[in-house]
Amino acid sequence: MTNSALILRLDNRLDHLVNIDIGERGVEHLFEAARALQGESLVGAAADALLAVPEGGMVVMTTGSVSRAWITPELGENDGPSGAAAIARALVLARNATCVMLCEETLLPAIRNTCQAAGLFPVTLEQATVAKTDKSLATIVMLPFATEDESGQEQAKALLSNLKPDLLFSTERVGRNELGVYHSMRGIDYGMGRARVDALFDLAMKRGVPVIAVGDGGNEIGMGRVADHVKTHVPYGDVCQCGCGGGIGAVTGCDVLVTAACSNWGCTAIAAAMAARAGDEKLLHTPEREALLLDTMVANGLINSTHGIVDDSVDGFPRQSHIAVTELCRTIVSRAL
Ligand SMILES: [Zn+2]
Repeated sequence: MTNSALILRLDNRLDHLVNIDIGERGVEHLFEAARALQGESLVGAAADALLAVPEGGMVVMTTGSVSRAWITPELGENDGPSGAAAIARALVLARNATCVMLCEETLLPAIRNTCQAAGLFPVTLEQATVAKTDKSLATIVMLPFATEDESGQEQAKALLSNLKPDLLFSTERVGRNELGVYHSMRGIDYGMGRARVDALFDLAMKRGVPVIAVGDGGNEIGMGRVADHVKTHVPYGDVCQCGCGGGIGAVTGCDVLVTAACSNWGCTAIAAAMAARAGDEKLLHTPEREALLLDTMVANGLINSTHGIVDDSVDGFPRQSHIAVTELCRTIVSRAL
């Protein structure tokens, strides 16, 4: 049995660990703002919401960032996919949930293979229903999402009515600013070839479906929750470089925003908080699996976008830093396991 005072202390340690602003992006300001709004630990609130998904429930997830679409839309970043895969795995193991992962068709193979390396076999929706019923297989459903504004709106409506999700989860998924432009951290127009998944998240918020979002820069889905702070504290938060006249901040909000110096770290911390609550170490994202996912992302051509090269650094942070954060998250919650 775990006690709630211990869980609170562990949540706070996880929160602080993953929000050390190693990348000097101003994430500590976003963290403080998000904490003040939440009134409690961010990773703790996210873990509570994820574990509140009903047994056998439906969760729609998204990650993926086309990185240099003007060269090729088949090139994606390695921040996002491994974290999303860790959360999907924890949800399947903890709640027997069906996880539907949305991304660009061009990035689907790489993200699918990352999820598979995390233990989830890619199947169709129909096959996932069979697997859920007899609990014989941990699965993931991959669906491509539209990359144009209008078709994105249409697909958002159709998905919400057809899937009736119990929760939406986004990590490291760029959202449009108040003028409808999608920006990189350097403030350039990043909209080309990019899935308009933010339309789905806006609609879900309107309809009262719980939304959890993870981000590290201010331009991701969920950051609308701390929009004023993105404007003040993040480079290009007030004025971008693309000439649209807005900043890079995403307008799409969420119910629980988890900030982190690297979005993957936020997901690792959430999985650790889920494991602590459930008293189940199977829900952890382990250093061993993180190493496997880093290798899988390299093998699938996902790039370290800071250095513009395919390698196992993520957001410019070297491989061992990601394995170390995963180890520290595991160590922090080991008292509850
Ligand atoms: Zn702009």
